[in-house]
Amino acid sequence: MFSPYFSEQMPAIYREINQHYPIDGFFTNGWPSTGPLHVCYCEACRRLYDKLGGTPPADTDASNTLYRKYYQAYMDRVLEIWRLWDGIAREKDPQSVYVGNLGGGIDTVKDIKEISQAAAWFNADHQGRAGETPIWNCAQQGRVAQSVMAGRTITNVSGAYSNTQPVWRHVSKAPAELNLWLAQTTASGMVPWFHWLGGSPEDNRWREVGRSFFDWHASNEPHFRNRGSLADLAVLYPQRTVAFYSRGRGSSRYRGGPVDHLQGLYYALLEGRFVFDFVHEGNLDAANLQKYRALLIPNAAFLSDAQCEAIRQYVKNGGSLLATFETSRYNEWGEPRADFQLADVFGAHAAGEVIGPQGNTYSRIEMQHPVLRGFDGTALLPGAEAHIPVKAEAPLVLSVVPWYPAFPPEMVYPRTPRTTEHAAVFRKAGKSRIAFFPSDVDRTCWRSGNADLSQLIQNAVKWVRGDDPAISISGEGIIEVFAWKTEPGYALHLLNYTNPNMTHGAIRRIYPLGRQQVRFRVQDRAIKVVRGLRLGAHLVFKQQGHTVSFDVPSVTDYEVIALQ
Ligand SMILES: [Zn+2]
Repeated sequence: MFSPYFSEQMPAIYREINQHYPIDGFFTNGWPSTGPLHVCYCEACRRLYDKLGGTPPADTDASNTLYRKYYQAYMDRVLEIWRLWDGIAREKDPQSVYVGNLGGGIDTVKDIKEISQAAAWFNADHQGRAGETPIWNCAQQGRVAQSVMAGRTITNVSGAYSNTQPVWRHVSKAPAELNLWLAQTTASGMVPWFHWLGGSPEDNRWREVGRSFFDWHASNEPHFRNRGSLADLAVLYPQRTVAFYSRGRGSSRYRGGPVDHLQGLYYALLEGRFVFDFVHEGNLDAANLQKYRALLIPNAAFLSDAQCEAIRQYVKNGGSLLATFETSRYNEWGEPRADFQLADVFGAHAAGEVIGPQGNTYSRIEMQHPVLRGFDGTALLPGAEAHIPVKAEAPLVLSVVPWYPAFPPEMVYPRTPRTTEHAAVFRKAGKSRIAFFPSDVDRTCWRSGNADLSQLIQNAVKWVRGDDPAISISGEGIIEVFAWKTEPGYALHLLNYTNPNMTHGAIRRIYPLGRQQVRFRVQDRAIKVVRGLRLGAHLVFKQQGHTVSFDVPSVTDYEVIALQ
């Protein structure tokens, strides 16, 4: 990274190629990636370590001051090299471009906001999924990239081969899985890039998948030229927390890692059919937030003072907020604060250290509240695995029932059946509604798959957002929704994840959904045509004021409804 290989040898190769061939740009596979930093022991890198004051630790560890210095030096070097190579690519033709390789989905260590300052083009190398990775992982990649690219080009490489664990480079991925991956690419506003290795394939089944998807895409291309998202909810993408929080303590990539909080919220948002964007924590300013009715924060434990202030101002200006667990408890490097930096916004102060993780804790329903709709027939809800004791002024809606043994059966009875400790704080301030869960309710929801916890999160999101959403879709099924303002009008993208292989690949066949009823608020135009682009048919619709209503008769794997 710090050797002249990057600053001299590579530029010489680019210039030689540029001199001899009429090419449009350069792409480097594998560099810089969004994953953890590497520590190299060559002479050039050692010279940097001397300047930093020692060799950095091999593992990600933001509590180590040497790691912090190395992280900044590494990010600076990525930007320096990216800009150098991009400048060389443009020497012959200013339209040429250098593109690095990114990707990594929602699990990033390198700061993608910083990288986006140099990147004219975000290439995501996010080719497929393995193990317990949920199917929506590609859409998440699109959201992460959108959160920093502000309308600039994003591509995603889809592997046509079986890039599972184990991997098979030379047999096709199941067509249903591959189609849904390509569909997520275009639904989330990325450009599809289809990929096979080797010049003499003996398995040709992938070709038809690519041919039909790209033919369809080409014949509808203007509807994929997006001009902005129509989402009314923002989910904070907590870069530093994802990068540093609990990493290195034996955490695995998708279960038990720092992305679990985000995954739990995400799953609940899919179940509730909410329309949302990711907002990167580096873009938390009034201009970026004002279009959203609420900001949802899945345990952004590591936030700078300035980021907290931006959230505070957003709420002061009438925005609503949902936050969980240790949000704002630490600064951007993970140094603990005496209290949540956002305690005044939450209406709750930390009154102790984290308790847990442990099972068999509960929340007791103490009073009626819109967030508790649908929980008839029970006084208890499942509690989160970990929580922080808080002091709050708000009325007690849900109280903490502390842990008691789940085994052996003879010992299963509550030692303290009732407390006055808040399991959640719901309050109003001016036009804003604030829901704060001082617990890892989102992570527990993801790990356990508990339906009550998902319902609780969905109810809280509905309460902070308020009634009359920009877009509502009713019908059966687990779907993901994207809504874009496009060059010709608007496009509503529906992805059907309703499948036994939703959280464990690969999807073998699609189970089509029945009728979906849509209400879609347009901004300032009379709609003349509503058309299902996969269906290849016009849809009957009604427009009343700004609201367009129509039924989508069915959704196979993917439907795009264009409104013009
Ligand atoms: Zn080196």
